[in-house]
Amino acid sequence: MKKKLCLLFGGKSAEHEVSLQTAKAVIKALDLTKFEIDPVFISPEGEWRKGLPLEGPVESVEALQFGEDKTVSATEGLQSTALTVSEEKKEGYDIVFPLLHGPNGEDGTVQGLLEVLNVPYVGNGVLASSAGMDKVIMKNLFKEAGLPQVNYVSFIRSAWEADREAAYSHVEKEISYPCFIKPANLGSSVGISKCTDRKELEAGFEEAFLYDRKIIVEQGVKAREIEIGVLGNDYPEMSVPGEIVAKKDFYDYKAKYVDGDSVMIIPAELPEGIAEILQEMAKKAFQAVDCSGLVRADFFLTENNEIFINEINTMPGFTPYSMFPLLWENTGVSYPELIERLVELGIERHKEKQ
Ligand code: ADP
Ligand code: MG
Ligand code: MG
Repeated sequence: MKKKLCLLFGGKSAEHEVSLQTAKAVIKALDLTKFEIDPVFISPEGEWRKGLPLEGPVESVEALQFGEDKTVSATEGLQSTALTVSEEKKEGYDIVFPLLHGPNGEDGTVQGLLEVLNVPYVGNGVLASSAGMDKVIMKNLFKEAGLPQVNYVSFIRSAWEADREAAYSHVEKEISYPCFIKPANLGSSVGISKCTDRKELEAGFEEAFLYDRKIIVEQGVKAREIEIGVLGNDYPEMSVPGEIVAKKDFYDYKAKYVDGDSVMIIPAELPEGIAEILQEMAKKAFQAVDCSGLVRADFFLTENNEIFINEINTMPGFTPYSMFPLLWENTGVSYPELIERLVELGIERHKEKQ
């Protein structure tokens, strides 16, 4: 029997566009003899629409049966179809695939909604999603797990507003230039600045606080960027390592999605033994944040082979040309197989909870 899969895409974050590209690719890759797809589009304003948007990002794929395009509430969006389906199959969705990046999608909020509705879903649960979205919480968990990382300090907006001078001197006491300032809860390099002096530090604070009430300031390192894919639930498997070579100063939003001139090297060419160390650390990071399904763990590797974990992404870029799927392809898992594995893992986790 075909699995009824609800594809949740779009979303109310800066990464809306990225999600559209991904949904398009996933719809194309899904085997229609195995899956019936029910797309639910979330507009940048947060409106949920069943079916595809009229001026949609996704080319119409004839074989798919889409519901009518009407705005519904989030719970209606997930439930009304489930009711229709229950007449045919005596059950709702087999799985929901939240193909959403960033806040309101990758951060545990949608996952919480799905938990309340008791629907199985692909990827990380509420806790891992929200902890992974908050760079400060994530780094605190890495610290507890003994994973090596660069020095960091964090601030909330009100404290900074109360005494900006104190905030800047605190950074300069703990960290040397260059440093990186990031909104705590975002991805795709949005709102991130590299600062080489006090003036840039001040501008970086202003910029990052436009996006979040909490920011993190990190020691900058000159390093290669190596990424590992992790796939599984209680027994995670690791992919071969991949390297991102950014042509720009750092891997910023434009380099990621606009210019596309960053190069991926898979598998990364690494000194003897480093790949295994990175894979072990990726597993540790996955477990430290209590992940399930998938994670992309991103590392810095310096000239002296010093390793720092940078972050994990609980819903990494997922087009067929993104790092995570390519890492798995190079490890022997094709894009369609990867999607099917994720569906199975989501269903497995749901069963274990019951
Ligand atoms: P995002 O979650 O938005 O991807 P990252 O923390 O990965 O944010 O930062 C984006 C990019 O900025 C990284 O891929 C890297 O190129 C650069 N970067 C971030 N932090 C540092 C750092 N501490 N030292 C050097 N480069 C950094
Ligand atoms: Mg990230
Ligand atoms: Mg990153």
